[in-house]
Amino acid sequence: MNIASVIVDIPTQALDTPYSYAVPDEMLVGEGGRPAAVGCAVLVTLGGRKAVGYIVGLEEVVPSPDEGTDLWGTPQSAADLKQVEAVLSAPFFDEEGAACALWLAERYAAPLSECARLFTPPRAVPRIVRGRDGRWRVEEPAIGEVDDRWVTRGPAFDAFVPRKNAVKQQEVLAAVGAGDVRVAELSREFGAVGSTLKALAAKGAVTVERRRRMRGMEDGASRAGAPAGGAAAPAPTAAPQLTEGQQAAVAAIEAARAAGDGRVVLVDGVTGSGKTEVYLQAIERTLAEGRRAIVLVPEISLTPQTVARFRGRFGDAVAVMHSRMSDGERYDQWDFIKSGAAKVVVGARSALFTPAANVGLIVIDEEHEGSYKQDSSPRYHARDVAEWMMSRAGGALVLGSATPSIEALYQVNKNPRWTAAALPERANGRPMPAIEVVDMAAEFASGSRAMFSGRLARALGEELAQGRKAVLLLNQRGFAKFLLCRDCGFVPECPHCSTSLTYHEQGAKLVCHHCGYTVAAPPTCPECGSPYLKKFGAGTQRVETELRQLLDGLPGVGPTVPIIRMDADTTQAKGAHQELLESFAAADAAVLLGTQMIAKGLDFDDVTLVGVINADTQLHLPDYRAGERTFQLIEQVAGRAGRAELDGRVVVQTYEADDVAIRAAATYNRGMFLRAELPKRKLLGYPPYVRMANVLLWGADEHAVATEAELLHAQLAELIRNEVGERWQVLPAVPCVLAKLRNTYRYHIVVKAPLGDELSAPLVRLFRARKVNPAVNAAVDIDPVDL
Ligand code: ADP
Ligand code: ZN
Ligand code: ZN
Repeated sequence: MNIASVIVDIPTQALDTPYSYAVPDEMLVGEGGRPAAVGCAVLVTLGGRKAVGYIVGLEEVVPSPDEGTDLWGTPQSAADLKQVEAVLSAPFFDEEGAACALWLAERYAAPLSECARLFTPPRAVPRIVRGRDGRWRVEEPAIGEVDDRWVTRGPAFDAFVPRKNAVKQQEVLAAVGAGDVRVAELSREFGAVGSTLKALAAKGAVTVERRRRMRGMEDGASRAGAPAGGAAAPAPTAAPQLTEGQQAAVAAIEAARAAGDGRVVLVDGVTGSGKTEVYLQAIERTLAEGRRAIVLVPEISLTPQTVARFRGRFGDAVAVMHSRMSDGERYDQWDFIKSGAAKVVVGARSALFTPAANVGLIVIDEEHEGSYKQDSSPRYHARDVAEWMMSRAGGALVLGSATPSIEALYQVNKNPRWTAAALPERANGRPMPAIEVVDMAAEFASGSRAMFSGRLARALGEELAQGRKAVLLLNQRGFAKFLLCRDCGFVPECPHCSTSLTYHEQGAKLVCHHCGYTVAAPPTCPECGSPYLKKFGAGTQRVETELRQLLDGLPGVGPTVPIIRMDADTTQAKGAHQELLESFAAADAAVLLGTQMIAKGLDFDDVTLVGVINADTQLHLPDYRAGERTFQLIEQVAGRAGRAELDGRVVVQTYEADDVAIRAAATYNRGMFLRAELPKRKLLGYPPYVRMANVLLWGADEHAVATEAELLHAQLAELIRNEVGERWQVLPAVPCVLAKLRNTYRYHIVVKAPLGDELSAPLVRLFRARKVNPAVNAAVDIDPVDL
């Protein structure tokens, strides 16, 4: 008998195990449909309801007369097993993918179904719905292949001569003569062409055929079947001669690949040092051995610029996967990868779960980026998953960054499987720009109330007047404008979240940046009726206004120099981000003013000035990584200046000029920062010296959440006491920093364990055993990035 081990996809917060189902022989060979295989979506019944499941194991079991065992060793009577009722799809993943889903669920204490779903393109899985009549039915997936009808020259194309008055035939033949063309295009140009095509096809003058459409292709036409995802492949670019440092980095990667057991190489190189070139050459060698490569870049830097660089080297064999693509585009890319034709997958963290077979190299660029950690279940970190995958597949993992995470630096130091290759200089030999720190507290004390210090204003004047460009970074955290009543101190807050509302000049609105709640700003204080409501802080719009005034008054600059603002508001529309960057690139002198999103991956030759308007707001957050993030942000944004022939300069404004993170960043002195930061982490018990788990609870009823949090805390404390003893620490259940979000109340419990301890296993056991409280959601975040 064949038994499938199935992850059943039913909404549950409980952690469960796969279930066993019998697979009828005819289903195994695909009689009358698709064959059952690992990775297939199937229809099963569980607890009286029908559900979609994913096969993660398939085994032939010799039935004994009365008893068998399932894949998990549980004895059971084979006759009792329910059957897989239908195979709903071709495989979404292979055996390795199945192993990965099972591993993720254990490693991150996450529900299995959520782990399996990582492997399915959005909306590509059939759904099971129950009709009004109580019957279950399978709803076809909303996303699938799309075909276009194409017209090409037929066997008799050259011989066929249309009649003189058959104008439409002549038009169509002329069009087809110029190249294959879609029926849709012909009708757009010439009106209805159905009967014309039919007549021509009957004579063999043309052939009409269906061809798979790759959504997201700009030109669509001549390149059906080629990968989508933005720019078409440019002419191949030759690889430059590597510098010595780059050669050493490539050699280190080669050695790691040769070891074939999942070693990690950290390419620790300043911005512009040629890290990407190192990746490209390491990938080239990987492909030469017939293996594939996955490259992860932060979502925000997944621009056509980045993609074009990979296409420039590897042509049409590059697939692209990120969340700003439409579901259809993602499906087509997914399918393109599955076909085996894609050799390199470039994408956001989710690209790890595409069906690329035989991957021998994974590259994670800007490894320190927070976006590599998924903030919803399963709360995985791409770095850990990639390392696991490469150790299974006998490949290597490459991490790149100008500002590596403290975790990665720690591993390089302590873990013999990790090595680092340093690229301390820019590939073009240009020096890193000098960083000047401006003490805003001193400016303030000397009477200046302006947002731009004298030094930043002067630097802007000098650079822009020479036709050069500037990038200004607004640290958006804690940089919002809010209303405050001068009489009673009232600050309007969001009724759904525990946060104050942000004031928007445009339309005089108050907006919640967490849930989108919007109201008109009140003319008087809703609490005391006072008319003295003052606007505090400064939104990006206010900064733009002040910057405009500043530029207009600068000699040689004036109103013709554009300010391009890039923040959450201006980049909402699809493609807006790219358009803003393009207009910045096309301008002569210009200022790009934006939030954190501009710190990454920008590569413009003529940016000579980078200004950080407020470097310190992160330092006050209750976040043990605040110093690390500030250090990284300044180093990253500084790397945007003076990348080509022109020297760059950086001006950092701060109220905390003495802070070590800022002083160290300003002198490119990582050692200085680490010497101050690491002892603090060690003393307070934070990573990289301990491992943490964050147990999250949330729900609509504050009291219920608090009670459940207490209960779970007690259970957890007892379990840890019994199973691991005093080595672990379970902190009390407390409200989250953002205690209320979208009308949900949130609590958390922090667990700390020594390095090397298997952190998730006890939590998984507790979550499997505990009784679920339907009123309160609970989840575990292993190795959280944010607390
Ligand atoms: P990073 O990824 O570290 O920011 P890049 O790989 O983008 O660096 O390299 C920065 C610039 O230097 C790019 O324009 C790249 O084409 C160029 N470059 C990189 N390596 C070399 C090399 N060995 N010789 C010449 N130019 C190089
Ligand atoms: Zn008031
Ligand atoms: Zn809100």
